[in-house]
Amino acid sequence: SADDGAENEWLTRFVRHVQESIDDLTELDQKAGDGDFGTNMEAALSHFSLPVRGTDSQVLNAISTSYLVRSGGTSGVIFGVLFRELANAFTETDDVEAAIREGSSHALAEIQDLGGAQVGDNTMVDALSPAVDALENGDSLADVAQKAADGAESTRDTTATKGRASYVGENARGVVDPGALVVSWLYQALTDD
Ligand code: ADP
Ligand code: MG
Ligand code: MG
Repeated sequence: SADDGAENEWLTRFVRHVQESIDDLTELDQKAGDGDFGTNMEAALSHFSLPVRGTDSQVLNAISTSYLVRSGGTSGVIFGVLFRELANAFTETDDVEAAIREGSSHALAEIQDLGGAQVGDNTMVDALSPAVDALENGDSLADVAQKAADGAESTRDTTATKGRASYVGENARGVVDPGALVVSWLYQALTDD
């Protein structure tokens, strides 16, 4: 497209945030899971040089493929699906808010179909689901980002019942789910400047 090569500001903010947080993400999954979440995020996103360039659908597709091909663990598949649905939605419309709403909502349905996580199970669904509710309610992107962040923070009070974090049970209490945190950063990247 004509936008090939143009800097993609919001996805640059997202990728930078994750790239700069690998150690913190590792630490969260060490406390509440099997410790590989940071490594899985690094495998997917560290090879992107900043700023990332391309249209929203191009960059979202590249991120999706990267998660699916390079990243192991549950998160490789889950985030691969999330970014693929977002990429697809951006090919249908130029309206960012509509694309984010449609893509997020399709991703949530698919991820819950795949992994069966409900709100309160201490996964990224705890951030994605309130974001989808806010988007479907017509809230501003700033409010959507705040609700995703509140959802991520809510995982501090729960223990995991899905994924390998479920093996450590009560140890997850007091620890934010790293997958939910990364989802909240995605919505945050849309609103920061
Ligand atoms: P693994 O649990 O295989 O080690 P990762 O460490 O790569 O996977 O990813 C863990 C993250 O994946 C968690 O922080 C959580 O947000 C997310 N997750 C785990 N299971 C599910 C699920 N069934 N549905 C949605 N997200 C999940
Ligand atoms: Mg893990
Ligand atoms: Mg693992």
